Amino acid sequence: MTGCAAALELARRGLRVIVLEADAVGAGAPGRSLGHIATGVGSPYTVAIRDFGRDGARTIWETHRENHARLKELLAGLGDSCGYVSRGGFRVALDRDGGMALAESEDLLREDGFPGEFLDHYMLEARFAVTGFAAAYWCMDDAEIDAPAFVQALARAAERAGARIVEASPVRALETESAGVAAHTEGGLVRSPVALLALNTVTSPLLPYLADRIRPVEGRCMAFANDGAVRVPSPARAADGRVYWRQTADGLWVGSEGDLDFEPESTGALTAFARRHLGVGDGEIAAHRRGTRGVSRDGFPFIGGIPGTPLFAAVGVTGPGFGYAMLAALWAGEAIATGRDRTPERYRAGRPFHSQEPPAGPQGERE
Ligand SMILES: Cc1cc2nc3c(=O)[nH]c(=O)nc-3n(C[C@H](O)[C@H](O)[C@H](O)COP(=O)(O)OP(=O)(O)OC[C@H]3O[C@@H](n4cnc5c(N)ncnc54)[C@H](O)[C@@H]3O)c2cc1C
Repeated sequence: MTGCAAALELARRGLRVIVLEADAVGAGAPGRSLGHIATGVGSPYTVAIRDFGRDGARTIWETHRENHARLKELLAGLGDSCGYVSRGGFRVALDRDGGMALAESEDLLREDGFPGEFLDHYMLEARFAVTGFAAAYWCMDDAEIDAPAFVQALARAAERAGARIVEASPVRALETESAGVAAHTEGGLVRSPVALLALNTVTSPLLPYLADRIRPVEGRCMAFANDGAVRVPSPARAADGRVYWRQTADGLWVGSEGDLDFEPESTGALTAFARRHLGVGDGEIAAHRRGTRGVSRDGFPFIGGIPGTPLFAAVGVTGPGFGYAMLAALWAGEAIATGRDRTPERYRAGRPFHSQEPPAGPQGERE
């Protein structure tokens, strides 16, 4: 998703672009994404304010909103809605403390210009067929999209703009040389004055600089048969973003991260969660998906020039890819094309980093 958006950005600016994709376009996390375009990190606004200050939290939420606006701008140019629907989304609290945090967040968010509505336990259960949740918050700015369709549409648009996309072409090694970068692929060597890494998560042989800063987190989701008759708040995130679900035409998709309290190698706990809270019956699980997200240690992506190299990054868009990916592509693309990098300091690839920092949670929140 990020790579195709960046290719489109660069090709439209008249640069010669080649995309080297290890697998097939969209084979990465977007193929697994539930397509929840969420506003804000996984944790409640009150927690973000505690961690980043009021201005910091507001700026992060504004970045997600700006990313969403950029996505809509791109969609308009793609001539395909890609299943985009704008009817908000939910944060759901599992316990009383979480519910209180959502209630307090509602007022603070409204003051900062982010509309939404707090639903207490009774309102939630009156409106939806869910049980066992303490409260919820409906965020008006959220939306939904068919993520795989969007990535394909971006790729086709990038090709029409002149980019060349080469699939099944993993980059095995990257070498910087006097004239720029050499990418080693099975099909041969690709030389270019600059290279942009849009890998989400980066393995150390490719670039230790980024590999130190981003860890892979496995996510999985599964579809339960639900014809829509059982009404659930959708799309939604709970447990600080570690559990998420979305009602789609092919069922109710419920997902979680590998390092949840849920048993890592079994889907039993997730199924139990869906049965307990979301009115899912004992029927067959219709489909499974797994995917890896790149989660940075401080919870924010790495965007722009990597100091002292001809390399650029748009990586670690973390859990909410739809929070950052379009801006990451835009900012990195602009930096390459114009030499001017307007990536905010918080997201810069060259920002100070301490390897001792505690890892961030799967949606980018601090644990
Ligand atoms: C189960 C699940 C559900 C999700 N749900 C949501 C959601 O509802 N909302 C949301 O905002 N986000 C969601 N996400 C996260 C979202 O999908 C990602 O943030 C987003 O896909 C990141 O896009 P990307 O293009 O940066 O990285 P990726 O999608 O991971 O793409 C990276 C690409 O790089 C390629 N690549 C890797 N190594 C190499 C190499 N050496 N050479 C060449 N190519 C290489 C890969 O094949 C891949 O195509 C979900 C993720 C998962 C796993």
